[in-house]
Amino acid sequence: MQGVYFFRVNHKYRGRLAPSPTGYLHLGHARTFWTAQERAQANGGVLILRNEDLDSTRHQMEFVGAMLEDLRWFGFEWSEGPDVGGKFAPYNQSERMEFYRAAMEKLRAGKFIYPCICSRKDIRAATRAPHANDDDEPIYPGTCREKFPTSNSQLPTAKFSWRFRVPDGETISFVDGNCGEQKFTAGKDFGDFVVWRHDDVPAYQLACTVDDAAMQITEVVRGADLLVSTARQILIYRALGLQPPDFFHCALMLDEQGVRLAKRHDSLSLGELRRQGISPAKLRSQWVGQHKPS
Ligand code: GLU
Repeated sequence: MQGVYFFRVNHKYRGRLAPSPTGYLHLGHARTFWTAQERAQANGGVLILRNEDLDSTRHQMEFVGAMLEDLRWFGFEWSEGPDVGGKFAPYNQSERMEFYRAAMEKLRAGKFIYPCICSRKDIRAATRAPHANDDDEPIYPGTCREKFPTSNSQLPTAKFSWRFRVPDGETISFVDGNCGEQKFTAGKDFGDFVVWRHDDVPAYQLACTVDDAAMQITEVVRGADLLVSTARQILIYRALGLQPPDFFHCALMLDEQGVRLAKRHDSLSLGELRRQGISPAKLRSQWVGQHKPS
């Protein structure tokens, strides 16, 4: 996109918390979110809460209420969100399908995406080599890249996903507010990625990008496990003609064994800590300066 310049229209800092209700929130989420809240406050901005519930089954709906309750207990305050409304409502991703579909159609019209019938198993079998990147998505071997013309009449008859064609060899770089300059080479550090799943649900990469743009987020604060995803999302912003926000990726919280905290670490769930009567202020006091990259 050389020669194309974007100007931010809205200068007021807008940050967001974007939890997925797929389990109980734990201390690792809280630490990253706390950084997001502190940065919004320090910049005289606002914080919004977006419920990333695209993956939610009925069973997981129970987590949404607990999630909001745990966040409030911990001391988070948002001025827009599913429970308080706001200018950019709805704030539940499950209610925002039309935005994602419109973006997907735009990507399709621009030939940025193509239909793909490969299963995860096919891809793993075709790639053989261990993942070259540090997130959990294997580099797509390109099996369906040229297989199906993207006109309606010739779409695959089997279930398919829509995959973003990355510009092989191009280095996507950005300056992260916490981790400094980042460079990821398309086709090497990450491959063609799914934007619309075969079960007709928008993928995280697309939904997150569309929402951060639509909700006029000026800085995305999230875990360092998503640095490679930021490179993917920058390609989506570019394809849609949108300006990316700034990024600030926080170091992930590890347990005593050095393993990254996950929703399975029940003892460190916010709900459990709350039941034990531990005060959020005490938990927060241990974090001073800890979001720095390790
Ligand atoms: N819902 C995503 C997660 O919980 C959000 C990631 C992001 O902040 O972009 O991992």
